[in-house]
Amino acid sequence: MIAIVAEPHAPYSSPPSTAPYVEVLVDCPGSDKLFTYRIPDDISLNPGDILSVPFGSQQVGAIAVRFLDTPPQELDATNIKPIDDVISPGFFPPSYWELLQRVADYYCTPLIQVIRIALPPGLLRRSQRRLRLNPDNIPSGAEQFLNPVARRVLELLQQSKSGSYTAAYVQQQIRGARRGIRDLVNRRWVDSYLEPPRVPKPKLQQAVTLLNANPAVYGELTPRQREVLRFLQRQGGELWLTDLMQLARTSRGVVSALERCGCVVVEEREILRREMGEAVNADAPKELTPAQNAALERILGFSGYAEALLHGVTGSGKTEVYLQAIAPILRSGKSALVLVPEIGLTPQLTDRFRARFGKRVCVYHSALSDGERFDTWRQMLTGEPQVVIGTRSAVFAPLPNLGLIVLDEEHDSSFKQDRPAPTYHARTVAKWRSQLVDCPVVFGSATPSLETWLDCRGEEKHYLSLPERVRSRPLPPIEIVDLRRELQRGNKSIFSLALQESLQNLSETGQQGILFIHRRGHSTFVSCRSCGYVLDCPHCDVSLAYHYTHEGATKLLRCHYCGYTRQHPPSCPECGSPYLKFFGSGTQRVMQELGRQFPNLKAIRFDSDTTRRKGAHRALLTRFAQGDAQLLVGTQMLTKGLDLPSVSVVGIVAADGLLNLSDYWAGERAFQTLTQVAGRAGRGDDPGRVVLQTYTPEHPVVLAVRRHCYEAFVEEELAQRQVLNYPPYGKLVLFRLSGLDAALVERTAMEMGEALLPEAGYELLGPVPAAVMRVSDRFRWQILLKFEGNVGIELQEAIDRLRQICPQTVKLSVDIDPLNFG
Ligand code: ADP
Ligand code: ZN
Ligand code: ZN
Repeated sequence: MIAIVAEPHAPYSSPPSTAPYVEVLVDCPGSDKLFTYRIPDDISLNPGDILSVPFGSQQVGAIAVRFLDTPPQELDATNIKPIDDVISPGFFPPSYWELLQRVADYYCTPLIQVIRIALPPGLLRRSQRRLRLNPDNIPSGAEQFLNPVARRVLELLQQSKSGSYTAAYVQQQIRGARRGIRDLVNRRWVDSYLEPPRVPKPKLQQAVTLLNANPAVYGELTPRQREVLRFLQRQGGELWLTDLMQLARTSRGVVSALERCGCVVVEEREILRREMGEAVNADAPKELTPAQNAALERILGFSGYAEALLHGVTGSGKTEVYLQAIAPILRSGKSALVLVPEIGLTPQLTDRFRARFGKRVCVYHSALSDGERFDTWRQMLTGEPQVVIGTRSAVFAPLPNLGLIVLDEEHDSSFKQDRPAPTYHARTVAKWRSQLVDCPVVFGSATPSLETWLDCRGEEKHYLSLPERVRSRPLPPIEIVDLRRELQRGNKSIFSLALQESLQNLSETGQQGILFIHRRGHSTFVSCRSCGYVLDCPHCDVSLAYHYTHEGATKLLRCHYCGYTRQHPPSCPECGSPYLKFFGSGTQRVMQELGRQFPNLKAIRFDSDTTRRKGAHRALLTRFAQGDAQLLVGTQMLTKGLDLPSVSVVGIVAADGLLNLSDYWAGERAFQTLTQVAGRAGRGDDPGRVVLQTYTPEHPVVLAVRRHCYEAFVEEELAQRQVLNYPPYGKLVLFRLSGLDAALVERTAMEMGEALLPEAGYELLGPVPAAVMRVSDRFRWQILLKFEGNVGIELQEAIDRLRQICPQTVKLSVDIDPLNFG
């Protein structure tokens, strides 16, 4: 196993610093530069403190990054401005800071870039320090004891209507105001705070509250008005205006009339922008199965740092174990962090957490609006016991009292960031975090990654297993269909006879099913039947995929790499033939076929096209769960932990796209994906049925999936990896090169290859052109290094050497532990 040992960075080991200079990050977009400031004698700083500094003509927020004993040589020490003040000390717990530094070191990324990933966007940007009077704290007549500067500051603030001014304004008005401000702040007569940037003003919504209606007035109401009042009363006397109008089927006019005669009051209320979703019914802990209980006992027994793998087949009740492990954490006043692969998964999962923990559940992910992210961040910093559920970047959630980290579906590659830097894996970062804050981390999966599997079977780690489904429901039988034989039998449909039979069954029994298609539209293309011409993207080396917009109203062709879109041409651009045909089986194609062959089956398409809109995942899944449709047709998203009890049939339309990928972990991924999709079936009382269609039924992955045999598959796969020294034994580092000038990129790649060649300690693979060589008009090359065991000093040397060779117009990026080789 690769030991990841990052040296703690010297400057952070002994805060607070007494160094006279500090380098700060000012969050101006695009700038990765650190700026140097002087630290006044009477201020002591810790790394991560949020400061207010003069920046050009502004007063801005900044974050203290690094301390210096002497100013950088190129600066004239007398010109270095002092920082203005500390706005928010201890913004991060010290271990958090160490975490960021470790990420920067391990992923060979400047610390600033890591900070940018960790912070919610715009936290510092153009922030201003504001001062506000605290009149309750000022004893009358006490002003006379103030020094003259402080008194002038106080007077200035007292003149302000709102009792507040920006610090910059006060300093402009009063020379040497800083000392005075500090005096007032120390006395708590004045509050100093960082005014969040562009902050998202508090969001207001109109609420209607029932007042005690005067019987005299009541008698004069129209029947309709009385009905609305009674409705409001039945609902507890208070509703959002929009809800009241919708639920009581009434108009704003009626509500206004009620307001005029004093029966109700309509007023604005602030709503905290957290993703709350719809109300969920409360839910009590379930009685655990013996296996769940054993796993829970082990987790509750950890004191401090521990790593555990919860390996439970699909539907074995892992989530229930997390829920019951978190409950005592909250009771002890600590918080829990739950990381999940993708947002498509969260609505269902968050509902289950909300049902158990109510408002203490907070959702944090990159699809939140800036306002929501900001409010959620503030909520996390309060340190109140809470459960934060989020995607990979939530591994940085600033929870001060972390008691447990759960990483669900830990095998999922969306925990890995490819770009921009840092190219971190949330699983790796979660391990460091649990070490630094001394709390356990639990990795959950039905199909653990080889890395976690190997690791958690080791001596010091913990292996917890849920080998059976809840209520001893069997895993669904998996039927392999040889598509070559279908063709021989004369069946030209994309659905085999076995699958057709299952679908037919659905329309008769009223049960539900899932159809899985590998990826979105990558395999579809349009080609001319007369001359064979394929319509390509003009900017990338890929063919354009066929898209319908709005149920086929417009036909469009789109590039999945750069987004280029064009109309479907009426005839071949090459030979003019009108016979254009499209190939492949994307989700759209399957929808079309379904419509043709099974007009009675209603299907919902669930892929990145139909779920782009915010809230679309939830809406589609809710419709499906309510029985609006009998089929859910989609891509990878379907593999991510959906728990839909009425699904009895799963069809894997074509497994081959998955089986024929060429990178070192293609087999692992194919096994995981197919097992996960199959696991959506039979979660209710019906055992379910899975039909897996393939042209290569003898493929070892297919056989292992059919036997539900994770262990045998993994052991064999591990043996191969070990021989070839691939992860989790060896370690990979990928260099990506790109540029507009094809010849220059190629030449640079070759030069780099030569510069790396004589080195010991790693094996050089490449340089090679990327699988898709041109994307958005940029030409791409790759160089892969394979290290035996640990990465040493050789890596930093290699990076330095390549950076020296790299011309300005070629972009070089480093991906540590890469998973995406496209
Ligand atoms: P997994 O996360 O392992 O795929 P889930 O946690 O989604 O499994 O559980 C599958 C289903 O079984 C869920 O509907 C869940 O509510 C139910 N379940 C889990 N544990 C129990 C239990 N101990 N008793 C009864 N039902 C349970
Ligand atoms: Zn043609
Ligand atoms: Zn393109």
